Order: sequence, then structure tokens, then C-alpha cells
Amino acid sequence: MQVRIGDSVIELVLGDITEEKTDAIVNAANSQLAGGGGVDGAIHRAAGPTVIQQTNELYPQGCPTGEAVITEAGRLKAKYIIHTVGPVWRGGKHHEEADLRSAYRNCLELAARHGCQSIAFPAISTGVYSYPLDLATEIAISEIRQFLTDSSAPILIRCVLFNEGIYGAYSRVLEQ
Ligand code: ADP
Repeated sequence: MQVRIGDSVIELVLGDITEEKTDAIVNAANSQLAGGGGVDGAIHRAAGPTVIQQTNELYPQGCPTGEAVITEAGRLKAKYIIHTVGPVWRGGKHHEEADLRSAYRNCLELAARHGCQSIAFPAISTGVYSYPLDLATEIAISEIRQFLTDSSAPILIRCVLFNEGIYGAYSRVLEQ
């Protein structure tokens, strides 16, 4: 499914983000940038050891929640990996929404600063970090829409969703 906003496109696809050929893919990392399970583990396994070497070298302090950092992409087809840290869901009263919004926004701004014309996102925080899927989806789509409305350079944004349930949630929100 695809929606146009000005000259830009938001596309929903069911699949594995490690196979994306977009200029950048986003990793839902942890604040130590230490690699881990879920999409983070899959990205590091597919990209190879140069990515952890780079995060250790460039960002030894890690990355705070809501922020984003960039590395090359090792063996992946993408040029860059943007590592962002989404919030852990703790009931909704610990600035989870602001942190998730800022994670999306910082990824999009970092991609734009690096001249990326396409970027792929997973559903940040909806796995181990337990953010309720419908709430996380609303935030993802609204931040992406806002960014596209504010920016002039056309860009392709692919939300790469790992299962039918997540795809369904995204398509319901995007259709609205
Ligand atoms: P978080 O800690 O931010 O919750 P997870 O990796 O646990 O990160 O989950 C984030 C989302 O990524 C989940 O919706 C999960 O289904 C999805 N996911 C896991 N592996 C992949 C993959 N290879 N490609 C795309 N999405 C993935």
C-alpha cells in the first residue's frame, strides 16, 4: 500500500528490513548500541562486524532514548544504518510518546542531512520494548506525515513490517 504526500511517498511493505535497498535503514537499537535481539540482532547479523566496530568507535557513549546516530551498512544493500533508541513502554506516563516521536523525527532529519532519498523503518519499540502497537503506529505515521509536509525534498519512506498484524495496524492508520 502507498500514499503520496506532495512529491513524496509512504509505502507499507510486509518483510525483512535487512533486505531493503533504500539509502538508509533504521535500526531499533538499545542505548548502549550493543546489538541485541529482534530487528537489531537481525541487522547486525546481516551487516557483519564492521557496524559494531563503527558504533564503538564513533559513539562510545551509546545513544540516548529518542535520539539517532548513523553508520555505514556493512554487507547490506542500504548505504547507511540509522540507529535509534525508542522508549521502553512503562504505562505511558514516562514521556514515552515524546520519546517515540523524537526517535522518528531524528531519524528522518539525519537521513535528510546525509542526502538520503529513501529510508526504511521498522515498527520502533513495538517488540521487546512493548509499546502498544496501535499507539506506536499512530505516532509513526503522524511523525512521517509531518516531516513530509514540512520538507521540500521528495523522499520515499518504506515502513517494513514484520508480520500481518503490524501491517494491518499500519494500513488502518494510513487509510484514515
Ligand atoms: P524494540 O526493542 O524497539 O521493541 P524489537 O526489535 O524487539 O525492537 O521490535 C521492533 C519491531 O521490529 C517489532 O515490530 C518486530 O516485529 C520487528 N522486527 C523484528 N525483526 C525484524 C526484521 N528483520 N525486519 C523488520 N522488522 C523486524
